[in-house]
Amino acid sequence: MQIKEQIRQLKPYQPGKPIEEVKSEYGLEKIVKLASNENPFGCSQAAKDALHQEIEQLALYPDGYSAALRTRLSEHLQVSESSIIFGNGSDELVQIICRSFLHGQTNTITAAPTFPQYRHNAVIEGAEVREIPLRSDGAHDLDQMLEAIDGQTKVVWVCNPNNPTGTYTSEGELISFLDRVPEHILVVLDEAYYEYVTAEDYPESIPLLKQYPNVMILRTFSKAYGLAALRVGYGIASEALIRQIEPAREPFNTSRIGQASALAALDDQAFIEACVEKNKAGLKQYYDFAETHGLTCYPSQTNFVLIDFNRPADELFQALLQKGYIVRSGQALGFPTALRITVGTKEQNEEILTILAELL
Ligand SMILES: *Cc1c(COP(=O)(O)O)cnc(C)c1O
Repeated sequence: MQIKEQIRQLKPYQPGKPIEEVKSEYGLEKIVKLASNENPFGCSQAAKDALHQEIEQLALYPDGYSAALRTRLSEHLQVSESSIIFGNGSDELVQIICRSFLHGQTNTITAAPTFPQYRHNAVIEGAEVREIPLRSDGAHDLDQMLEAIDGQTKVVWVCNPNNPTGTYTSEGELISFLDRVPEHILVVLDEAYYEYVTAEDYPESIPLLKQYPNVMILRTFSKAYGLAALRVGYGIASEALIRQIEPAREPFNTSRIGQASALAALDDQAFIEACVEKNKAGLKQYYDFAETHGLTCYPSQTNFVLIDFNRPADELFQALLQKGYIVRSGQALGFPTALRITVGTKEQNEEILTILAELL
């Protein structure tokens, strides 16, 4: 048997360590996981109630068109129902985009470091991946990304805000970029952390779709909505673009419980607002810590921070793990001396920062 050459060079996704495994390995009772940018406050109670109700329907396939969720989401976003595509998490939309646009004779452009799934899926399709280093302020270097475009370029990825830096591209920068990208090239704006953003000059991207039909926005219920387990993400783009990529989507890619819970979660915007407020206060705990200890960290528009500790990140990661705190080492993320820490509850942040202070 012969696996495709491109797949042979890839490693399977390395997830954060599972809680149960850490418990038994280190003989710990309590584990705090701040590694995958999950919502430390869980999800809306309404989403849980909706899930319970849906349990009676488990024998039935889900609605492959997600009609009820689609209607509600289109009202919420003020876009037409046909300009939305749902994915099994926005991860799956990255896959659908790559399957639809990329093959061996094409290339795609990403920042580096950024969310690894763009590269991963592009490599599987056999495309060349052009990775453009972030600017020193951690933002995408859109000028250099533009320079890298040539006749074979099909997709450009803008992770906004960027994972793992938490930095963002402003509206002015984005528009100036979109004005210069040839219109036959797809620009994907991955806005997985959209709900957490507080910067005034962050682009309101949906109104841009009218002027730039080559743009697609990705968002998700996994982060601020706290439904990562249920795998519901979505893309927003022109109706024509959505129609063209729909055949690359699996017919039943979102589940009944995912659709029902996401719909209920959308109706509880008070939950989102409360989480965003608490996240803002949590980010400040980390900024204050960094300042006190003379450490650099990028200002974040997300629910995580990347702090540079000026020492091998894996050592700090291990030391935290032994005490039951799971974070993400920057080693595998392109920042070998930094940790990416998800903003937790006030108490979780206090605890982890106390331990970090002892380790420094
Ligand atoms: C978490 C994350 C996603 C994936 O989210 P899912 O909807 O759970 O697949 C996509 N993009 C970025 C930048 C993320 O951080």
